[in-house]
Amino acid sequence: MADTFAALRPGATIGILGGGQLGRMLALAAAKLGLKSHIYCPDPQSPAFDVTPLKTVAAYDDASALRAFAAEVDVITYEFENVPAATAEILASLKPLRPGANALAISQDRLAEKSFLASKNIPVAPYRAVHSLDELNNAISAIGLPAVLKTTRLGYDGKGQRVLRAPEDAASAFADLKPHPLVLEGFVDFEKEISVVVARGADGTVRAFDSAENVHRDHILFTSTVPAEIAPGIAKHAAMLAKVIVVALDYVGVLGVEFFVVGGERPSLVVNEIAPRVHNSGHWTEAVCLTDQFEQHIRAVAGWPLGDPQRYADVVMQNLIGDEVDIVPGGIDGDTQPHLYGKTEARPGRKMGHINRIVRAN
Ligand code: AMP
Repeated sequence: MADTFAALRPGATIGILGGGQLGRMLALAAAKLGLKSHIYCPDPQSPAFDVTPLKTVAAYDDASALRAFAAEVDVITYEFENVPAATAEILASLKPLRPGANALAISQDRLAEKSFLASKNIPVAPYRAVHSLDELNNAISAIGLPAVLKTTRLGYDGKGQRVLRAPEDAASAFADLKPHPLVLEGFVDFEKEISVVVARGADGTVRAFDSAENVHRDHILFTSTVPAEIAPGIAKHAAMLAKVIVVALDYVGVLGVEFFVVGGERPSLVVNEIAPRVHNSGHWTEAVCLTDQFEQHIRAVAGWPLGDPQRYADVVMQNLIGDEVDIVPGGIDGDTQPHLYGKTEARPGRKMGHINRIVRAN
């Protein structure tokens, strides 16, 4: 269906695919704007179900449940990029899907993502598609070592990838990583990692939040610090590249772009990956921006004008992983904004909540 509709009126319903913490925070932001949320998720224990009574518990390939869901909502969005293509197709034929199916197709496949970015002259690490061990050996000759071998789909938080340091590492990494094809990327000797959360409204307006400097622990985001300690020219360039990406995708909604900052005399940027959704490294926006990333996404998908992403304080966002969540409420001081996701079981590695520590007023 053509993506043209008038701005949603308060009281209208946004359908959200996915019931994790991102869906939960989107539903909370929608409620603040007088919009209802209907969450679709196969897991009956989904954190997002706590914050709205409108829910569908069904598999993502359940065509009749998808049709019934679409009939109940005015526009559809999602909190994760691995929405199956067939699901996106059914939903987009019934209601506006924002962001569109194109952004999903590109971001759920590392090869499609890299070739899209390269076609727009966005800097990415050198890469080669790998369908066989022969191709992997050729790719190693072309790109050199060290290099990173990754699955093209369903990789997250460092899962589905191996660093190759010597030619002998190739065979076992190729056998272990599934499914094929894989992609070999040149190893980027980066100084730091940053990200930019950018939004594009239905009217084509583009606004970017400040860049965040990200530190990972055990391959999971640990902290996002804003402002990032980078040269002003690099921050501007990162925002510009993020804007080019949303315009090229004809995107509506919020998108996260992760970058490597390569140091040296003339620092430069390499895009690691894009995520067509609100992003963990944008959680700081809820504490210190006029409009946070969740409200910005809801505004965009509702066809409302975007809000001002201006930041009015410095901040450090820290994820609470596993039993780190136990610091709430006792270990929280007055400068710290806690946000818990309502998950009952604090398994190791599970994102249970985050805190935003305000560093100083600007
Ligand atoms: P990804 O799943 O692609 O986001 O990668 C997870 C983490 O692995 C990144 O945040 C980097 O720290 C590291 N990494 C991924 N790709 C590369 C690369 N080409 N060069 C160096 N480090 C990488």
